[in-house]
Order: sequence, then structure tokens, then C-alpha cells
Amino acid sequence: MKNSEYKYGGVLMTKPYYCKDKSILVHADTFEFLSKMKSESMDMIFADPPYFLSNGGISNSGGKVVSVDKGDWDKVGSLEEKHEFNRKWIRLAKQVLKPNGSIWISGSFHNIYSVGMALEQEGFKILNNITWQKTNPAPNLSCRYFTHSTETILWARKNNKTARHYYNYDLMKELNDGKQMKDVWTGSLTKQSEKWAGKHPTQKPEYLLERIILASTQENDYILDPFVGSGTTGVVAKRLARRFIGIDSKKDYLKIAKARLEREIKQEDI
Ligand code: SAM
Repeated sequence: MKNSEYKYGGVLMTKPYYCKDKSILVHADTFEFLSKMKSESMDMIFADPPYFLSNGGISNSGGKVVSVDKGDWDKVGSLEEKHEFNRKWIRLAKQVLKPNGSIWISGSFHNIYSVGMALEQEGFKILNNITWQKTNPAPNLSCRYFTHSTETILWARKNNKTARHYYNYDLMKELNDGKQMKDVWTGSLTKQSEKWAGKHPTQKPEYLLERIILASTQENDYILDPFVGSGTTGVVAKRLARRFIGIDSKKDYLKIAKARLEREIKQEDI
């Protein structure tokens, strides 16, 4: 093994941006990195890819008019380009997913139809279509549409007869007061108290990742987030004793993810 190489659970990688206590952050283009990872090595993938909604529009945040633009990484030239992007990363994700693993992908109407189509085209079977209903969505400033108050999270596994995905049915039922957990999950936008480490335009709330991880993985499982951003998946994976690899092409975001992971590890030590 060369000095610049690194092994993690059988996964050969270049030296990561951060690595501690079974949590790894990688600074890389996800397409490049996924194509180098060991095949069938991950138990679960959660991905919050670009929604491609940065079109120069406006929204509302804390009573102020703000741009909806998230950054250059959230812009795309055409419908075809958007779909090609989704097909390509989903194809690579399938290669690194174990035969009995599963994948969760979040999105809004801007990208989720492409994601769903790409999942089926690349040989996945969609297991659930989760609706995340936000209790405090931003109001619609134009007053020409209904208030956008939901996002979708698709859950899928490989589409073959032998694939057996893991679902912790009993725990989900217990968490829902003894009744079967439904596919509409209601809760607030990400709380300010979770945003202490810095600004990421699309930081996901921790409670969503907690449910996803508890539902579909067991302790010590390998979880991958190919668009890790501020590191929400990693923080919750750490809290729940899962192993984690997160990839992002922006160092500024990885800095936030690292600070959040460090705090999580420190709290564990107390
Ligand atoms: N779930 C994350 C969180 O809670 O903070 C937010 C993820 S955000 C929607 C998508 C992320 O993907 C951004 O941080 C962006 O920098 C990253 N990204 C976009 N294209 C990428 C690429 N080709 N390779 C690696 N990261 C990429």
C-alpha cells in the first residue's frame, strides 16, 4: 500500500480529509471516488444530491427575501444533463452497495422524478416513497402557487429475486406508538441548534436521518453518503454506532461536517 493510500473496512481510498472512530470524510468528486471504491462494500447509502433548483428565483427565510440559489453545484444546463447526472451516480452507487443493502435518496419535484426513473433504469426496486411534510415551510412569496411544504425520500434496493433488504419493522412500530410506521413523516425544518458549526444551504434535520438509519441498518453497518454536505448523516451514524464514509467536493462544507463529528465524538467520551 502506498503512503497516500488508506484502507477502511476493505475499502481502498486516497488519504481522507478526516478519519476518526470509524467515521471518514473524503474531499473528492463523488463520481471519481465512487468508481474507485470496493464493490459491494456498503450496507446502506443515504444521498441528498443536488436538487437542481438554483434558477435565480426568490424565497423567504426568517422574514427576509433571499435567493433560492444554493451554489454552482446545484445548477444544471438541461433536463438531459440532469438525468444523466442522476443515472451516472446511481449506477456507481449500485456497484458499491452490498447485495442486501438499500439506498435512500431525497429530493423535491425539481429532481425526484428523474431520480425515481434513474433508479428503475439502473436496476433498483423502489420500496417506499416517503413524504417529508414540513411543519414550518417558507411562505410562497409569489402568491401564485400553493406553499411548497414537502420533500420526497425514495427508498430502494437492488431489483433481483435474491435481494433481501433489512427493515427494522418492530422498532419503527414501537416509535409510532405501537402502530405501523407510515410513509408520511412530519416535522420541522432543521433547527438553529443543529446549525452551530457553520452555514450549509441545505442542511437536513437530524431526526430524519435518525429514522432512516434506525429503520434500515444495524450497529457497525457501513453507511455511505456521496453528497455529505454539512455531515448530518455522519453525525447521526456516529451517534447510533454505525460506520460512515461521506464525500463532498467542497472543503468549506467538509469543515462543518468535521466540526460536527468531532463534537459528537467528544460527547460520546463524556
Ligand atoms: N445532506 C447534506 C446536509 O445535511 O448537509 C446536504 C447535501 S447538499 C443537498 C449536496 C452536496 O453535494 C453539497 O454539499 C455539494 O457540495 C455536494 N456535491 C455536489 N456535486 C458533487 C460532486 N460531484 N461530488 C461531490 N460532492 C458534490
